[in-house]
Amino acid sequence: MEQNKPKIVILGAGYAGLRTARNLSKMLKNDEAEIVLVNRHNYHYETTWLHEVAGGTINPNQARFMISDALNTNRVQLVYDEVENIDRDSQEVRLKDGSISYDYLVVALGFVTNTFGIKGMDEHAFFIQDINTSQLIRDHIEYQFSAFANGELEDEDALTIIVGGGGFTGIEFVGELAERVPQLCKKYGISPDIPRIINVEAMPSIMPMFDEDLVEYAKQSLENRGVEFRIGTKINECTAEGFIVGEDNELIKGGTVVWTGGVTGSPILEKAGFEITRGKVTVNGDMRAPGEENIFILGDCAWVMNEEENRPFPPTAQAAIQHADTCAANIKALIEGTSLESFTFDDKGSVASLGVSDGIGNVLSGKKLRGKAAATMKKVVDNRSVFLLGGTRVLLKKGKFRPF
Ligand code: FAD
Ligand code: NAD
Repeated sequence: MEQNKPKIVILGAGYAGLRTARNLSKMLKNDEAEIVLVNRHNYHYETTWLHEVAGGTINPNQARFMISDALNTNRVQLVYDEVENIDRDSQEVRLKDGSISYDYLVVALGFVTNTFGIKGMDEHAFFIQDINTSQLIRDHIEYQFSAFANGELEDEDALTIIVGGGGFTGIEFVGELAERVPQLCKKYGISPDIPRIINVEAMPSIMPMFDEDLVEYAKQSLENRGVEFRIGTKINECTAEGFIVGEDNELIKGGTVVWTGGVTGSPILEKAGFEITRGKVTVNGDMRAPGEENIFILGDCAWVMNEEENRPFPPTAQAAIQHADTCAANIKALIEGTSLESFTFDDKGSVASLGVSDGIGNVLSGKKLRGKAAATMKKVVDNRSVFLLGGTRVLLKKGKFRPF
């Protein structure tokens, strides 16, 4: 019995992967299945806090915790390696440092930044993609201020931070910058009139998923704190000097250029030969890849159809955690030979932060929040996610409890 037990391999220890591993480790007995979790690092990071890491308003270590602190390591085998491909014929995952066979596979490798092929973006812009790329942004901004204060940089544009894309990520990031830039001015003795924070958005509105009154509140609040908006302005190209925008190819110069214009699923999906739509796999209701008996695809790697509206649900951490719950239940059902359940999304709303103590949100079936109420709700959501992934001990270490 012990030798024939099925092997479940989970790829990625983000919201979807770590939650699946935690659930399965509690739902299946030791002799029922072997569970392996593969992740590039030995830590999980809270992707939903990366704008704060990039903005320099939280310490990068607060946004991550050791995977071994969140799981029973007697029950889940941890493999820290880079997934390079999946061979579905031989049921093997190719890693940078070897390979691993599976009976059941969970692909939860998250997203990568999408530049849509915009010229120069990969070469010249920073991305808020993981904890390392976010830390690089924080360090680069601080370097610019330090070098300007020391006279190594003389052009005032060195202190302009341009952010391309006014979706959730771009707006939450400029909210953090609005807090951080005045602190850096004080630290380096620089006049607060010199630095600029510019957000560039192609569409007629930032964050169009919110009602107009909330968007107006967000824009006003950020403008009051010095953020400039270029709305309805398409970025055509990125150069070492900044963004080239609009029909007349105007150059917006900046010393820090960050692209937050969109994301797509892990490139491993396409490499492994899954059928891809706009970078992701459209999964069946039970979270399995079409035509696959034993492969589940979760989180930002998956499109999950909202049948009522005939379009996919937006990819979020909230959804990724719920995908994991369905996936774990269905793997258990497959092992036990019972029937599989279908994913239903329990939409708890969305909240966007606008710096440490401000925000906007739509929660609990349409209730609108703004200001401190929204910022408080965001912290509740952030803490809930740490609790769901890491349990009480991790929450007490990494949770956001400081009043503002
Ligand atoms: P991830 O959480 O990205 O995890 C993927 C994991 O896989 C990572 O640990 C990564 O290191 C690992 N990995 C990737 N490739 C490899 C490889 N080749 N080999 C080994 N390991 C690999 N959603 C919300 O619901 N609420 C929010 O407030 C919110 N805020 C956000 C703020 C920002 C700045 C960003 C960028 C996104 C935000 N989102 C939010 C969206 C949310 O973060 C994503 O939808 C969520 O992270 C998806 O979870 P996931 O498990 O699919 O992937
Ligand atoms: P997004 O795709 O939602 O937004 C990207 C923005 O960039 C869009 O407004 C788009 O119009 C703009 N853009 C694209 N190309 C452009 C160009 N050439 N010039 C100028 N602007 C351009 O991406 P995101 O904000 O990174 O969000 C990714 C996902 O993560 C979404 O599903 C979002 O819901 C989720 N997310 C959620 C939260 C939250 O709930 N608080 C926070 C961050 C991200």
